[in-house]
Amino acid sequence: MSESNVPLSRQGEGSGVRLRFAPSPTGYLHVGGARTALFNWLYARRVGGAFLLRIEDTDKARSSDEHTQVILDGLTWLGLDWDEDVVFQGARVERHRDVADQLLAAGHAYAEEGAVRLRMPQGEIAWDDTVHGPISFQGVDVKDWIILRSDRTPTYNFSVVVDDIDMKVTQVMRGDDHISNTPKQIAVYRALGVPLPAFGHVPMIHGMDGKKLSKRHGATAVGDYQQLGILPAAMRNFLALLGWSPGGDRELFYDIKEMTEAFTLEGIQRKAAIFDTKKLEWMNGQHLTQLAPAELLPIITPILTSQGFDPAAYDGERILRAIQVVRERSRTTLEVARQVAVRLGSGAIENDPKAAEAIAKDPAAFKTATESAARRLAGVPEDKWEPTQLEAELRALAESFGIPAGKVFQPIRIALTGGTVSEPVHDLIWAVGKTETLSRLKAATG
Ligand code: GLU
Repeated sequence: MSESNVPLSRQGEGSGVRLRFAPSPTGYLHVGGARTALFNWLYARRVGGAFLLRIEDTDKARSSDEHTQVILDGLTWLGLDWDEDVVFQGARVERHRDVADQLLAAGHAYAEEGAVRLRMPQGEIAWDDTVHGPISFQGVDVKDWIILRSDRTPTYNFSVVVDDIDMKVTQVMRGDDHISNTPKQIAVYRALGVPLPAFGHVPMIHGMDGKKLSKRHGATAVGDYQQLGILPAAMRNFLALLGWSPGGDRELFYDIKEMTEAFTLEGIQRKAAIFDTKKLEWMNGQHLTQLAPAELLPIITPILTSQGFDPAAYDGERILRAIQVVRERSRTTLEVARQVAVRLGSGAIENDPKAAEAIAKDPAAFKTATESAARRLAGVPEDKWEPTQLEAELRALAESFGIPAGKVFQPIRIALTGGTVSEPVHDLIWAVGKTETLSRLKAATG
């Protein structure tokens, strides 16, 4: 490779800050990896540096192009763009071999049974970690280690350093499970006479039980959350707070620019971050309310279509109206789509357990309420079918029975949605429309 003739030097010096994300494409884009990528990206963008991507595909048996694509798609979905061409570590093996041979020739490494081992310095190996502060190891505690195996394949800790040097990386920010690799890597920089980048080790992500996040805790791939109806902006917001605190009580960042401006290395925490799915859903709900119905429409259209519901068959205004009323109470785009379908669709309504229980408590009252509501609403002309008028009608109805309005509202809600929670009932009736409202009330009456 021609590149192998490039002398090793700190080529990045003076040309600005350069960070990288270096995933191994052996699985999907894990939320922990995505968080680390986000921190690197935020810092690079904040200081006007470069954010690079290196795919560490040296484990050929476990790496695949498909996984690489999933990682690139996941980053793109999160709104993280990268500078320069993606570097593939597997394509740089010749370069790694050449550097190992240089170290061998210079006496910093020695051959043993066909492999090449790096001579570890005996004294202190220390660095000022951007997150943890001073960290120190004793060289004597780290054995001389293999940089090139007898089959001439480079080892992980060695390739990483050669690549980081060649990519002119000035800041290495990665998970703190890599702290124990750092003294080995520093020894390579020293042997090559290259100044160290700044190292910062960001906290691990744990589940609610305090154990390292794993499949046991539920979805751990970014793509899973996309499927579950999480908005990219909400995912990004949530990931940013896994190990970073903007200070104060601020949690919501709707705008990526604002988040970039707020991001500082000082705000990165040392203790493990907790992945709380409920919080992610809450945050997603907050982000949902920021989107206008017209912005949500293209997001939920594919979901509706995949469920056999054809949005094109409906009046656009009605769909937007439905989105508007369900948006506030939905936590995911799947939920928005489901609730929109309930309001616009026709056909049987299935009662959830709470609704069934409420009916069973007093079937006669349920029947009376739905029957009389159907009669009353049948008298409302189409051009008066709007929330204020509908609310007035229902309140008058309750009054005529001498019962609290809620006793009329709740049975209608159940008849129309099969559930016990919804937007105000007059908004619901408005969204469902006259024909379908009357037909559901009749169906519920039995
Ligand atoms: N491929 C390594 C990982 O996925 C990257 C380590 C590093 O950033 O130096 O953990």
